[in-house]
Amino acid sequence: MAFEPAVDCPVCETTLAPDRTLEDHLCRNHTQEELARLLVRKHDSAGGRIRTPALANAGPNAREHDLR
Ligand SMILES: [Zn+2]
Repeated sequence: MAFEPAVDCPVCETTLAPDRTLEDHLCRNHTQEELARLLVRKHDSAGGRIRTPALANAGPNAREHDLR
């Protein structure tokens, strides 16, 4: 099969061994708290570029009108 390129862990920046997956590394080497922080940091660094979900127009909040 094709050679898989080395993967760097986004949390500790360790280059993983070719026979290890990032998922395996994350599960074994990092706590849920660390992973959560990573996700939050990524989310924050995206700044305002994340599209606002269209929840304002539909969904549970859409019943501003009186439905009578
Ligand atoms: Zn790591």
